[in-house]
Amino acid sequence: MTDKKLFWSVFLNLTITAAEFIGGFISNSLALLSDATHNLNDSMAILISYIARKISKKQKDEKRTYGYKRVEILAAFLNTVFLIAIAAILIFEGIDKLMNPGEINGQLMLWVSVVGLAGNLITAILLFRDSKENLNLKATFIHIMSDTLSSVMIIVGAIFIMNYNWYILDPIFTFVISTYILFESFNLIKEISNILVQGKPADIDTFKIKEEIEKLSYVENVHHIHVWTTDGIDLYFEGHVALEQECDYKLDSYIKEINKILEEKFSINHSTIQLEQKLCE
Ligand SMILES: [Zn+2]
Ligand SMILES: [Zn+2]
Repeated sequence: MTDKKLFWSVFLNLTITAAEFIGGFISNSLALLSDATHNLNDSMAILISYIARKISKKQKDEKRTYGYKRVEILAAFLNTVFLIAIAAILIFEGIDKLMNPGEINGQLMLWVSVVGLAGNLITAILLFRDSKENLNLKATFIHIMSDTLSSVMIIVGAIFIMNYNWYILDPIFTFVISTYILFESFNLIKEISNILVQGKPADIDTFKIKEEIEKLSYVENVHHIHVWTTDGIDLYFEGHVALEQECDYKLDSYIKEINKILEEKFSINHSTIQLEQKLCE
């Protein structure tokens, strides 16, 4: 995404967020505050990945031998934990409102949510144009659809509150939006945690790697395998390769061939291979 487009989508999102927070407090609508929270998170997510991408371009140095790629993961983790906390608060507030419903200014709620919908649609167009060749297209589309849906839902709610004083719709919509935020957050936390505990990336099959390398005539077995990713993109492999007993080893060409398998079949481009004869028997 170009810097200019990025700036505008963040600016728009933050403007909607501010409008919804202020409108939510004045009109006494918790649903608006929930939507504001979601929009705040969207802006934060865009900003974090932007800033982190800048930082992670910094070359690795003697102190940070893996570079700065995990900065984005760390920032996303903090942002998500923060979001879960807010969603939990909204749900508690919603329960309170369900039991003691207060009056809500439906007209103000309606206007603010119309502004929110317009802002969301413009952001959607900005983001959508750029994600055309992106693999994340489907995820982005689903996200934008649900953003739009939650704005539409609040508009409908505001109309009912204006005309029939159905204040109970406000906490109900708060639950729907907060549950959605929690659902999104837990999925993200799961993904981030797996990266932070150096878990195996989901699409990598270590048994298959072992099998492929053991097909080589000079390999007796492969063991002590570790596969991990720094940032969800770059893949690392570490493993011991025990060689068949021969008298004329061509170590460099073995490593070259194993690296080729790792790179071509598994997209792993950082590997550390320990060649051994009988070390681990
Ligand atoms: Zn969103
Ligand atoms: Zn070993």
